Amino acid sequence: MASSASSVLSAQSSIKDWQESLYKDLHAHPELSHQERRTAGVVAEELRRDGFAVQEGIGGTGVVGVLENGPGPTVLLRADMDALPIAEATGLDYASTVHAADGSGREVPVMHGCGHDIHVSCLLGAGRLLAGSRDSWSGTLVALFQPAEETSDGAQGMVDDGLARRIPRPDVALGQHVLAWPAGTVSPHAGAFLSMADSVRITLYGRGSHGSMPHLSIDPAVLASMVVVRLQGIVSREVPPGEFAVVTVGRIAVGAKSNIIDDHAVLELNIRTYDRSIRDQVLAAIERIARAESAASGSSKEPDIEVYDSYPLTDNSTEATARVEKAFRDHFGDHLADYGRQTASEDFSAVPDAFGVPYTYWGFGGTEPGAYRAAEERGTVSADIPANHSPRFAPVIQPTLETGTAALVVAALAWLG
Ligand code: ZN
Ligand code: ZN
Repeated sequence: MASSASSVLSAQSSIKDWQESLYKDLHAHPELSHQERRTAGVVAEELRRDGFAVQEGIGGTGVVGVLENGPGPTVLLRADMDALPIAEATGLDYASTVHAADGSGREVPVMHGCGHDIHVSCLLGAGRLLAGSRDSWSGTLVALFQPAEETSDGAQGMVDDGLARRIPRPDVALGQHVLAWPAGTVSPHAGAFLSMADSVRITLYGRGSHGSMPHLSIDPAVLASMVVVRLQGIVSREVPPGEFAVVTVGRIAVGAKSNIIDDHAVLELNIRTYDRSIRDQVLAAIERIARAESAASGSSKEPDIEVYDSYPLTDNSTEATARVEKAFRDHFGDHLADYGRQTASEDFSAVPDAFGVPYTYWGFGGTEPGAYRAAEERGTVSADIPANHSPRFAPVIQPTLETGTAALVVAALAWLG
């Protein structure tokens, strides 16, 4: 198996120039979730060039390429394509200056701030290498490019649009994410790897009044503040120590002007958990607190509580992860790391779950290794190394592309080799 990986990867230097310019082009042309039309077009064109049978427009802008190459297992490799409403501040000469209308029609800056352009480039590169060396493997390769990971509904959208009828059932699904670790490293992890995520919007109702007449109001600013403080007790006082949970209030919106007491306030929360019973406990506590604080303020109307943007747990199969980890150890040697489970979330598992097949999803590094090591020595990694979703997130092109491409090839060949 190691020999089939090394023979497929021996052509890696020949795709380098093409892959780097593809990456810069994608980076300079980011598209928001559900708007990945140009990206999908580039993906479909490159897959066709490599001989894949291509289907477009699955779940909106999703693209799937299937490459049949004799008897053997079917391996699904997945990349996500969407970018974020962020004003890029990397200073790169291929930085994005794109603006676009978001889902609500608001004009926003757009940036590949999560590295999904890296994912697309690596998967197209892996597809090209495997298509160009069909003597070295046998089976069926499915390359899946999904829209809208950042809005949590892209993978499910492809499933709901009949994905299972359109492609062969995979034996395993594999995916990866570039993260702010040293470039060149790969980090598989068995079991729970990425957390479940939920957003919660709470609308709290008070009674509006003139700012000079607080006694005539039920002040939603005070009510919302008490809720925010009280929410801090969920993780520290209610969730068992040793269990993981995050409760973040990411947005507080109340009022328009200093001398007006508004009649309502809106809080937007983000919840992360690894365990379904802990998730249910946290959501129940949030609802209890919102209702009880509303009653304590004398509010005459119950709060509205809406759960949205929910992501499933990414729970890597033990067997599939062990197989990938062994292949990675043979290929990457010292560059194999285990950075442990991450608090980020992904909708990737919706695809393997729709087929009921095992999956594994790993992280790989995108930060210049020298800069990472220097920051580590200074103890300033979190201050100095921009992470995903930062306007300064700028993966180094190499060895990031080379590593992410090799990881997909090596992992796929653990079944197909
Ligand atoms: Zn992201
Ligand atoms: Zn991402």
